[in-house]
Amino acid sequence: MTEPAPSAAPPLRPVPVPPELVLLDRDGTIITETGYLLDPAHLVLIPGAGEAVARLNRAGVKVALVTNQSAVGRGWLDEAGLARIHDELGAQLARDGAHIDLILVAFEHPTEGEGIYRRDSPRRKPNPGMLLEAMVHFATPAERTCMVGDGARDVVAARRAGCAGILVKTGKGHAELAEARAELGPALPVTEDLGAAVDLLLGESAQAK
Ligand SMILES: [Mg+2]
Repeated sequence: MTEPAPSAAPPLRPVPVPPELVLLDRDGTIITETGYLLDPAHLVLIPGAGEAVARLNRAGVKVALVTNQSAVGRGWLDEAGLARIHDELGAQLARDGAHIDLILVAFEHPTEGEGIYRRDSPRRKPNPGMLLEAMVHFATPAERTCMVGDGARDVVAARRAGCAGILVKTGKGHAELAEARAELGPALPVTEDLGAAVDLLLGESAQAK
């Protein structure tokens, strides 16, 4: 008799080469991980991240930011403050000829949010809500979509959304590698950084490790 699989979760979908849509985590993936970023003056791109986004732009791949920002739900940052941070992100990316086509943010936190923000939102990663929203926005099927992030929750969200996922080792990625592999299995694609993830996505290298 065959043993049941340890988890009923489906495997992560293979990385589409090239994809039509790439979903990017923000902190630790595009910009340096600083805990809770509250001041645009503290925003720093990870080296090579702007050029990596620009390569996706030039290849005609849509790029969406999908980011948990519970600082808003906790009352530490208002939406105007978050907009200023994303204006700064856009300005820094533009210096590398890069842009983001869509920004989706989950403000909620299940235990630390204030008022309406205290809930386990279907949009907050590892839930797949924002990923699904982005796919609907661009009318892109899951099999042509890939999530890239430095957190185990990013790649778990990818699996739940039915798309591909790549873990980058920047930010928290190195520390989360074991948890992510435990969740997703040894076939989880892992790259050093966003630039290497884009190499993989554009078929320009086979450097996934
Ligand atoms: Mg992150």
